[in-house]
Amino acid sequence: MPINSSRGYAYKSSRAPHARKPRARVNKPKHGQYIDPRRFVKVANPPKIEDYVPKHKFVDFNVDQRLQANIQSKGYEVPTPIQDQTIELGLAGKDVIGIANTGTGKTAAFLVPILDRLMRDRNARALIVAPTRELAQQIETERRTLSRNAGVYGAVLIGGTGYGGQMADLRRNPNIVVGTPGRLKDHVEQGTLKLANFNMVVLDEVDRMLDMGFVNDVRLLLSRLAEKRQSFYFSATMDARVNGLIAGFSPNAVTVSVRQGDTSENVHQDVIPYNDKANKIDALHTLLIDSVVTKTIIFESTQRNVERLEKELRGRGFDVAAMHGGKTQGQRKRALDAFKASNVSIMIATDVAARGIDVADISHVVNYGMPQTYEDYTHRIGRAGRAGKIGYALTFVEA
Ligand code: AMP
Repeated sequence: MPINSSRGYAYKSSRAPHARKPRARVNKPKHGQYIDPRRFVKVANPPKIEDYVPKHKFVDFNVDQRLQANIQSKGYEVPTPIQDQTIELGLAGKDVIGIANTGTGKTAAFLVPILDRLMRDRNARALIVAPTRELAQQIETERRTLSRNAGVYGAVLIGGTGYGGQMADLRRNPNIVVGTPGRLKDHVEQGTLKLANFNMVVLDEVDRMLDMGFVNDVRLLLSRLAEKRQSFYFSATMDARVNGLIAGFSPNAVTVSVRQGDTSENVHQDVIPYNDKANKIDALHTLLIDSVVTKTIIFESTQRNVERLEKELRGRGFDVAAMHGGKTQGQRKRALDAFKASNVSIMIATDVAARGIDVADISHVVNYGMPQTYEDYTHRIGRAGRAGKIGYALTFVEA
């Protein structure tokens, strides 16, 4: 049963959102920035994506045959725009800055040139730094399938898991290490990860790493690598901070940009007014049973609120997954896997836990708890409207 705006809110493009812009006075979060809720209302305006004509097919790239075979068995034939431009530069040994959103195929864009070199040169070593554990694991999954049967050893060094297995992996002298800044730095400081021979590096989602306060850890890692090295930097946005970090290490890097405007341009944004707690949870219930709401991420402001809402929705018969910083790495991974595989279609998360979630088919982002800053809001709503699809972002505001 579709909900219509006579229920008090709407979330479809057909409605003129400015018709019910909420008043500004009531929505100050307890902590953080004051955000005018009128900024939560906006009609999607997807950019016109010009047809990109790739210069290559994967078979055109002169890469190791084992890598070529693994690319074929993944079913990749035509490179995505970022791959089309980055792989060529990467194979030529250039430092590359890729400005690309998640979902553009950026992982294979850096893995193909890196794995090619690792397969040809047993002494080469690569370090890949990602802002979140989830992203590091996603990169490792792609790395494994692309380097099958090629004698390339990998290690994943992320927080939230024990040191034992990581030490054992490091003793095998891995060719490629993927990790998050904090844990990588711990291993470097303990002497279990020696970076002096690492002659390739990737910083993935540089902007997000800086947002999360990893700048010093990242600088430390870069300063320990082989001086003569090839570097890849990926970022959804380029600003003075990102540029400042990169320019200090790779002044001659070539920039490739395939950004198709702001992701939030693909997202219809609207508000759901509520009067009290009961009315709020009922409005959420009504929303979640609507057939157009196929895959939803619900944001709550604290771990406790996530748990409370998880319990409440389970009690109402919804199958939900939840992620927050208080859950173990195993629990977070299981929740994310279930959500990705669509075994559960509702995920409740805090802002921090949701960073790095890359699920292509999220239809709705629901801000049940108010974001602390407008930047958090933008990060949240960017989870919907991926891969050229229109998404919906709905924010609960006290009426
Ligand atoms: P990424 O942006 O690297 O996370 O990739 C997004 C998704 O696109 C992943 O599921 C990849 O497996 C898939 N993918 C990447 N490159 C290609 C390609 N050239 N052809 C088809 N699928 C791709």
